[in-house]
This record gives sequence, structure tokens and C-alpha cells, in this order.
Amino acid sequence: MKHYKTIKKCRLCGSKKLSQTLSFGKVPLGNNLLYNQSSSLRAKKYPLGLQNCNRCNHYQLSHEVNPKLLYATNYSYLTGVGKSFIKHFKDYVPWIENKCKLSKGDKILDVGSNDGTCLKFFKKNNYKVIGIDPAKMPAIKANKSKIKTYNIFFNDRGSEILLKKEGKFDFITSHNVFAHISDLRSVFKNIFKLLNDGGHLCFEVGYFLKVLQNNLFDTIYHEHLDYHHAAPLVQLLRSQGFSIISLTENKVQGGSLRVLCRKDNLKKISYSANLFLQKESKFFKKNKIKIKKWKNTIENSMNKFEEIIKKYYMKKYVISAYGAPTKATLLLKLANLSSHKYLNYIVEDNKLKIGRHIPCTKIKIVDFKYFRENKPNILIVLAWNFIDDIKAQLIKKKVKGILILVPLPKIRKILI
Ligand SMILES: [Zn+2]
Repeated sequence: MKHYKTIKKCRLCGSKKLSQTLSFGKVPLGNNLLYNQSSSLRAKKYPLGLQNCNRCNHYQLSHEVNPKLLYATNYSYLTGVGKSFIKHFKDYVPWIENKCKLSKGDKILDVGSNDGTCLKFFKKNNYKVIGIDPAKMPAIKANKSKIKTYNIFFNDRGSEILLKKEGKFDFITSHNVFAHISDLRSVFKNIFKLLNDGGHLCFEVGYFLKVLQNNLFDTIYHEHLDYHHAAPLVQLLRSQGFSIISLTENKVQGGSLRVLCRKDNLKKISYSANLFLQKESKFFKKNKIKIKKWKNTIENSMNKFEEIIKKYYMKKYVISAYGAPTKATLLLKLANLSSHKYLNYIVEDNKLKIGRHIPCTKIKIVDFKYFRENKPNILIVLAWNFIDDIKAQLIKKKVKGILILVPLPKIRKILI
């Protein structure tokens, strides 16, 4: 692969019958944050669009950027950062224990385990835990805190290594990783091999139905190859020998889908999972036209957001933003905020991003100290999925007299 390629097959079922859902044109890579301003302004752009499989109804990107370019800059997102995430994993463990009837000492693997936040909670309850993650820094952090973590990719070779060194597992878990992996079919195949008979796999992915319902278009970016809903996944998992035990949704990351399945070669679907699938299928049938017109909805909502910012700007209010997540790039572009005149800077907690620029803009990323000394009147929260954590942090640090603007799911104003 040179710089990027067009994806010509459904990544789940292999069908070549794909139709374009929407296109954002060429967009810079959201993680390509450069120190040098003029290099940042010249950052390369790549096509960003969504297509839909006519056979299994899966949604995926229309182009794949060469992973070498995509992951050249690694800002190693640490799971342990957000408080809401920690609470999520804390509640996850008893839920799994109840559903999978785990016994003390059972072996658990987390695929894309990051800094080991999820596994820590399982370890507390006396399970044997192993992590695997290709990102170097989080893996080092996990190993330091005694969560044994393999710093390798979960591909054919990686799973061979795990099988040889650790044997088979009773339970495999994975959170918000499967949308990034370039060959999901082989991931499920390798998980199947690594599980004991009767063992369970539970994973969470962003739920595309929620993205559509809440207009969360900024979750579409080059690193996210897939936009999942349950039906296409269920079809693939059953074809590989799993039974579907449970399908649920939760509020993590703006809306996630949790799939629990079992290696038993029975390919069954539980009663409750069937009800979930029926509800989901109704949604897609009912919203067919709405999805076709999604591009217009996105444009309208971003025009409205720009109008609000413009009004404050005309009144000479000082406007900054909070958080430089990957998704910020698309939102800033679509709301016409990429130009330097509206936004003076972005404040960010991740030290690795400070001093860099949002690609193709002059907008600099600064630390909290700078923010405190150059307090704006208006603060746009680009990491809107962490709004509760951010608000709590600002109040704790005694930041007052700022109007917070949350762009999504709906434009909200919060005065602190
Ligand atoms: Zn398909």
C-alpha cells in the first residue's frame, strides 16, 4: 500500500457490493500533530468517507490509509485517564462474572489492553490476567503495575506466541479496539483458537446506531475502519462457531455496543439477543432516508455551531477549546473553526500533545498552566464525551466565569 487505498470489499462478509453513504472529501490525519507551524499547515490530507455493504449492512471507511502513516505518531492514549472509564470497568467485572460463571484462577486475556486498567479489576478478584497491546508506552506502564502485558500485535503471529507461552484462555475481553484493527475476521478466528471450549469472548465497540441517532459524525476518522452495529457482527461470529449470549448497549464513548459470545460451535442466538437484533433492524429500516441525507444534517448542525461561535467572536469574546482528540480535526474543519481567527488555542491534558498544532491549522495546543494564565470567555469542549470529567476538573481547579460550549450530541451551553 502506498499512501492509501480504496476499500473494495466488505471487511466483515467479503461482499463487493458496496455503496457510498457519505464523503467528507480530503481530511488531514487527526493524530498528525506537528510542532512546526508551517509543516502543520502543509500536512497531507486523505479521503475520508463512509460506505455500506449491500449484503450484510456493515458500515466502514471507503479508504484505508497506510497504517505506517497513520500510527507514525503515537500519542498512546491511556485508558486510566478518564474517571468514567474506570467506573465502567469496575461495573464490568461483576457483570461478566455473573454472565460467564467464571471461577477463581480462570485465565483472562485482554486484547488491546492498554495500560491494564480493565485487567486490574479482574486481577483484584483473583483471576490470572494477561494483556496484549502493540502500543509501547501503555504496555510498559501495565507491566510496571504487575499486569503481564505482551507488547506485540494481536495477529496470527502474536496469537501463536500467546498460545505457546500462556496456553488457552477461559475468557477474552476487548474494549474499543476492534474498529482500529485491519483484519477483523482473522482476529475473531485467532480468539476462537485461543479460547477453551465453552469459553467466552466479550467485546465493546462504538455503536454506529448511536452515532446515527445522535449525529456523532466526528467519531468518523481515518483510524476507525469500521462503524459497527450488531447484525453484521452476529452473522460473522456465528459463521466462525460462536453462539451469541448477550447484546447490550451502554453510554461509553458516546454509545457502545457490548457483544458477549461463547465458543461452542452451536451458533445459537439467545432470546434477549434476538430481541435486540429485531429492534436494531427496525431502526435501520425506519431511518433509510435519514441516513441517505445524513451529510445535510451534519452540515446544518455545524453551520449552526459556527453561527454561535461567530456571534461571540464579533462581540470580541476570547474563545478557546478543550481537548485535542483525533476527532477534533473533522469537527473543526466542518464548523469552519480551523482558521486561527476564532480559536486562540486548545488546552490539553495529554503532555505529549502540548506545543503541537492541529493539522492544517495554526491552532496551538497548550497546557493547563497557560490556560489558567490566559483564561478565555468561551471554552469549546472538543472531547465532548468526557464533558462530565472535564467540568468536574475545572470546578476542582477553581476555574470560574467561563461559558462552556459542547458541540455534540446537541449544542449545549454550561456556565461555570
Ligand atoms: Zn458485508
